[in-house]
Amino acid sequence: MKIKVFSKSLAKGPGYDVAVLDPQATVQDYLDAINNFIEQNTDPPCKGCDECCWERIPLTSIDVFNYVNHLRDQLGLGQDWPLLDFLEKYAYIYVEGRVVDISLGYTMEGACRFLNQSERICSSYVARSLVCQSFICMESTQRASELRSELVNTGMDELVRLWLVQSQQAGRQLFIHEAHRAAPQLEDYHVNGFTNKKSYQEVLLKDICSKRLWASLTSELKKPS
Ligand code: SF4
Ligand code: SF4
Repeated sequence: MKIKVFSKSLAKGPGYDVAVLDPQATVQDYLDAINNFIEQNTDPPCKGCDECCWERIPLTSIDVFNYVNHLRDQLGLGQDWPLLDFLEKYAYIYVEGRVVDISLGYTMEGACRFLNQSERICSSYVARSLVCQSFICMESTQRASELRSELVNTGMDELVRLWLVQSQQAGRQLFIHEAHRAAPQLEDYHVNGFTNKKSYQEVLLKDICSKRLWASLTSELKKPS
């Protein structure tokens, strides 16, 4: 076991925490540990209300690769620039000045476009995004919350970088769903731990986390046994 997700009593009620047990832990190890915790919890935190599918769902580069790999035909994505096609048809690109935010698209009522509202199920479950996979419907410690945020933010930065690079390579004008004095700049989006990685198995947590967060997540490694 490379990652431990465990129950923790917090000020607002029952919650959970995350600890890294192996410095080579990947994002996929983290997602597996979250999934195990949800499955093994005797009081399942999810009651199936679907409210979390009415929130903004930020996307990472690997989320989009997963959608393309698993659902390309179903989603009608082209062969040449499937990432750009997905972003245009199924995402929501918001640009304010130099800041870019990319999330899943939503319906007029505000539901995720992949939510089957009548059955309250996800129609893209096999490829659902990092934010969906890593959500546990309970309070979390600060380090657990920061880990999730740093993963999503780093993955989205790489997605924005790819969007800018591929739009240029394809000779396509930047497709933006909502713009406010939009002036996105490639120089703002540097290569990071997600760059050139095609799956969450390839992304090491230590390449993503800030030093302070990594020290907190691995603090149990340093305790004398
Ligand atoms: S995780 Fe929480 S908000 Fe989402 S469906 Fe389950 S109970 Fe509802
Ligand atoms: S991708 Fe699926 S799980 Fe995630 S918000 Fe949309 S419907 Fe819900």
